[in-house]
Amino acid sequence: MDRGRECSILNPDVPADPSQLVHLDAGNPVLESTAVSRAPGKALFGLDADALASLMVAMGEPGFRGSQLAEAIYRQRVDDLGKITTLPRALRARLAADGWEVGCPRIAQVFTSVDGTERYLVQCAGADTAQAQTVETVWMPEGDDGEAGDGSEEDGAEKGATGKSWNRATICVSSQVGCAVNCQFCLTAKLGLQRNLSAGEIAGQVIAVLARHAVQVGRDRVNLVFMGMGEPFLNYDNFMGAVRLLVREVGLSPQRMTVSTSGIVPGIERFATEPAEVRPKLAISLNAPNDLIRQELMPINRKWNIKSLMDAVRQIKLRPRERVTFEYVLLGGVTDQPAHALEVARLVRRTGLPVKVNLIAWNPGPGITYSMPPPEAVEAFRATLAGEGIATYLRRPRGRDVFAACGQLKRTVEG
Ligand code: SAH
Ligand code: SF4
Repeated sequence: MDRGRECSILNPDVPADPSQLVHLDAGNPVLESTAVSRAPGKALFGLDADALASLMVAMGEPGFRGSQLAEAIYRQRVDDLGKITTLPRALRARLAADGWEVGCPRIAQVFTSVDGTERYLVQCAGADTAQAQTVETVWMPEGDDGEAGDGSEEDGAEKGATGKSWNRATICVSSQVGCAVNCQFCLTAKLGLQRNLSAGEIAGQVIAVLARHAVQVGRDRVNLVFMGMGEPFLNYDNFMGAVRLLVREVGLSPQRMTVSTSGIVPGIERFATEPAEVRPKLAISLNAPNDLIRQELMPINRKWNIKSLMDAVRQIKLRPRERVTFEYVLLGGVTDQPAHALEVARLVRRTGLPVKVNLIAWNPGPGITYSMPPPEAVEAFRATLAGEGIATYLRRPRGRDVFAACGQLKRTVEG
């Protein structure tokens, strides 16, 4: 069956023909999509300490007021200008009169899974309509094992939480509303690309969730995965802007962050030039054993095939103990055969890099006609890869009952 054609009918917003994906490259070299990035009105949230200091100086105030603002909105998570008591009352009033607000996104709706996972609809500031402006973020207490074996456990920077119902947690963050990449197995693809998120909207999801769970940065073990809605490397500047805010202003470690890409080669090449101080770890959505299958499942493969993808990945200068993760969605009967596992082993070994493979049993969604792999196939696939000497982990599906699992994010309000 020609799944590309089938899906383009189901999803008229998104071209199944990869030649039409060229529009993704318009504008800024090859990375910016054509979707308008609608930053909220005059939100302080999203500006870094330097930009806040410049704003203060422009208002005739001393530059250190910028650091006070950054401390209040990013570290203390104060969400109301009137409550930033380190600033003089008159200055707060002037800022408000000029139309400034803190503008951190807020959690508008919570869907709680039987397994403790929470899926949030996060409301961005300056919303026109509630639905158009919500994005999805997921909280997974105890994670989903996706972070196992990629070097993040060993950094020793943070100890387990005390007095909390969780020891460690993972927050899954969105980078766009919807997605243009049109992977045939993914529910987010059905939305098409609605818009890019600003850096503040991306980082703000994290702040809103940290506040909800009273996370103490530097003490509690929290991992971030940029694996929610959207393709981070098609919103590169805003994505990296968010990472810089999270590292420099919030105090999170980039070694506890992982960004996943469907294989946007110019994005990976640019990512390879980022300083280690602000570079998250990299995960590649491989999802298929060869170009033939991959281009059917992921039209983006016709623009950047597996070889060009692997060549780009090799440009990343890994930290000690860091590994590149390859994600692999097991689709029943399509990508879950033992022969596929042997092909995958060969592919990832040929990178010459320290790698690990995260297997994800496909999560179903309405309107997508693939099947879940039988548990025996999943185990056989895992065992074959492991037998080939590849570090292999099985990602636990979290929050499937509330549409919070991988590939299920679609602003589903019924839960
Ligand atoms: N756009 C980025 C990040 C978000 S998707 C990317 O594609 O990498 C995060 C992961 O979920 C990807 O590895 C993707 O292949 C996987 N995924 C998508 N739909 C899925 C589904 N229905 N079941 C399981 N995993 C899925
Ligand atoms: Fe977009 Fe990732 Fe879904 Fe592909 S898997 S459509 S890149 S969100």
